[in-house]
Amino acid sequence: METRGPEVIRDKEAMRKWSRSVRSQGKTIGFVPTMGYLHEGHLSLVRESRKLADVTVVSIYVNPGQFSPTEDLSTYPSDFAGDLAKLSAVPGGVDVVFHPKNLYDYGVGEEGVTGSRRIGGGGAVSCVENGGLGHETWVRVEGLEKGLCGKSRPVFFRGVVTIVTKLFNIVEPDVAFFGKKDYQQWRIIQRMVRDLDFGIKIVGSEIVREQDGLAMSSRNVRLSAEEREKALSISRSLAKAKAFAAEGQTNCTELKDMIIQEIVGASGRVDYVEIVEQESLEPVEKIKSPVVVCVAAWFGTVRLIDNIEISGFA
Ligand code: AMP
Repeated sequence: METRGPEVIRDKEAMRKWSRSVRSQGKTIGFVPTMGYLHEGHLSLVRESRKLADVTVVSIYVNPGQFSPTEDLSTYPSDFAGDLAKLSAVPGGVDVVFHPKNLYDYGVGEEGVTGSRRIGGGGAVSCVENGGLGHETWVRVEGLEKGLCGKSRPVFFRGVVTIVTKLFNIVEPDVAFFGKKDYQQWRIIQRMVRDLDFGIKIVGSEIVREQDGLAMSSRNVRLSAEEREKALSISRSLAKAKAFAAEGQTNCTELKDMIIQEIVGASGRVDYVEIVEQESLEPVEKIKSPVVVCVAAWFGTVRLIDNIEISGFA
């Protein structure tokens, strides 16, 4: 099988130029935004893009704008050389890796407006300051961002949607790929694209799991062996909830309690367990139409999320 290394572009103007030249040849661009430290979950999105688009761009950028000052930006894992090797090994490869240094640095503009001011010390950028000089524009999806992860991570989706908007404006893709692992994120991006009339198709891809069921995540590497074992309580209880629903248990309180007990029993700290309607993400009390069961829980210092869709048990 032919493999080739991707072209690495670090400059946003060079990226836009590349995309426009490709489009002028009548080719479609598939785009996979990531924060790097790639695993099979990311690579499944790349393979999907290779199927649906003529060329594929993968971005690798750890976005400071979506981390609050207390979150794990400074310890977020990275391995750029390893990422390039993994992308090169995908059959057909990827065409471009967009790896910008800082997407909030606008230099000194004509009116003397400088680049972003940042909070955080020791060179570890923790969060882009809102309302400072430089970057002060944020894209918010006001309803969908409120629940689930938005409750405990109040600046997270503002940061995600803003960086995805910026990336869409730089890469100008035809189709972009998001994992259902980050279910709320996928739904929020879909809504943003619809509401702001981006001419970009959003594809949601199925969750890729380790053989034992743990949803793949760049953060899994920070779990100890013992924590990793205990974290299996998340995927195990989600699968159980789906099986119970298939057997006729439609009471969401009962299902959520079962999941909470499993996770707490494995020494996890539950952030939330919610059963919500698949598009509106509104909580439901009884399963009557397609829902998704969403979980966020801490094992040690690592916050994990996972979910399972339940459809067709009306
Ligand atoms: P991240 O690098 O964590 O920002 O993720 C980049 C993209 O990969 C997002 O669209 C994620 O939803 C997706 N992704 C991450 N983990 C998985 C997984 N286990 N299965 C499917 N997609 C994933």
